Amino acid sequence: MRSKELYDEAIKLMPGGVSSPVRAFKPHPFYVERANGSKIYDVDGKEYIDYCLAYGPLIFGHSPESLKKALYEQIEKGWLYGAPVELEIKYAKLIKKIYPSIEMLRFVNTGSEATMSALRVARAFKERDKIVKIEGSFHGSHEAVLVKAGSGATTHGIPNSAGVPLDFVKNTLQVPFNDLEALSYILEKNKDVAAVIMEPVMGNSSLIIPEEGYLREVRKITEENDVLLIFDEIITGFRVSLGGAQEYYKVKPDLTTLGKIAGGGLPIGIFGGRKEIMEMIAPSGNVYQAGTFSGNPLSLIAGYTTVKELKKRNLEEINRKTEEIGKAIKDITNGKAAYISSIFCVYFGEVPRNYSDALKLNKEAYMKFFHELLKRGVFFPPSQFEVCFLSFAHTDYDLEKTIEAFDDAYEACGWKQRK
Ligand SMILES: *Cc1c(COP(=O)(O)O)cnc(C)c1O
Repeated sequence: MRSKELYDEAIKLMPGGVSSPVRAFKPHPFYVERANGSKIYDVDGKEYIDYCLAYGPLIFGHSPESLKKALYEQIEKGWLYGAPVELEIKYAKLIKKIYPSIEMLRFVNTGSEATMSALRVARAFKERDKIVKIEGSFHGSHEAVLVKAGSGATTHGIPNSAGVPLDFVKNTLQVPFNDLEALSYILEKNKDVAAVIMEPVMGNSSLIIPEEGYLREVRKITEENDVLLIFDEIITGFRVSLGGAQEYYKVKPDLTTLGKIAGGGLPIGIFGGRKEIMEMIAPSGNVYQAGTFSGNPLSLIAGYTTVKELKKRNLEEINRKTEEIGKAIKDITNGKAAYISSIFCVYFGEVPRNYSDALKLNKEAYMKFFHELLKRGVFFPPSQFEVCFLSFAHTDYDLEKTIEAFDDAYEACGWKQRK
């Protein structure tokens, strides 16, 4: 098998053979030859219906035509200038219109960079060092947030990364999701907290949906305690609703981070929010933040084209499909699944309401199921702690085949009888 041969080589050259840990699974990942629409093809000639979708960015599926055209046109004009372009203004205006809480923003290159910078400016604004994050949330791979971190950090059993100085850890406080009492308590005990950062819908410790009224109360508690609220909408932005979870749940954060869909499949991160906070960033203020590739025209055109297109299309179209697949999966698994908008997840265990629940899920069983699905031509993310996505490229026929494969795979794992 070509994938195995490549992996055997890769493992000698790169840690774990990969460029990002979530991609590594046993016995070896498949190597991609190409991808189009809802399908991804490996170097051994196998075709998969893709629900991993590069972990979220590809809401129109792989290589949509309109985006290809926009990218080719930009390539003709060059792809990195180190000087401003009008496209920055156009895209910033578009985002501001969709996210009224974002009065001012900055383009960066990754989601990690966006949360890192948002936390820095929040700390500067409040002149306080501590932050509160939610146990099991994932905000990228930088020091402040690699404490009880979800995604690959949890999958590979290192939620608290080595190499993060204790001085950082002591400034990152944690509370469980869906627990208002814990949040009130920690903010009352610690008067030196600058901000609470959270994924409004948790998508990196499996899928965990906020309970009725939770986010609204979080907003109230942060206000009462004079603490900033940062919504990390890197997954939920342009997905849960065009205007993200803040639009869906009608809660207004002080700062927001965007990424993934915002770059249309090219690297991007965006952070923004209240003007008085954002104006503290250099060169208008004294919070330093910079990047050679920030606001590069290729990422901008990919993001701008994607968001413009999304504005025209109706998210209901993919939400309806997700509901269809979600309901079918709930039926097969006797309720061990959840979905919201175009995100869904199957749980090998009870539906979690926080990180400690998620840790009780049977990740070995999930991986067995994952491989059974893969055999049947369906690609789910290779971890119980990740979520599945739908794209506009997924057809009714894809769904039909997926539900059938799901049913077979679930039975092959011996889980079907356990009603
Ligand atoms: C993916 C993700 C990030 C990190 O974004 P990168 O572009 O991978 O650095 C941050 N927060 C959330 C919620 C994410 O899902």
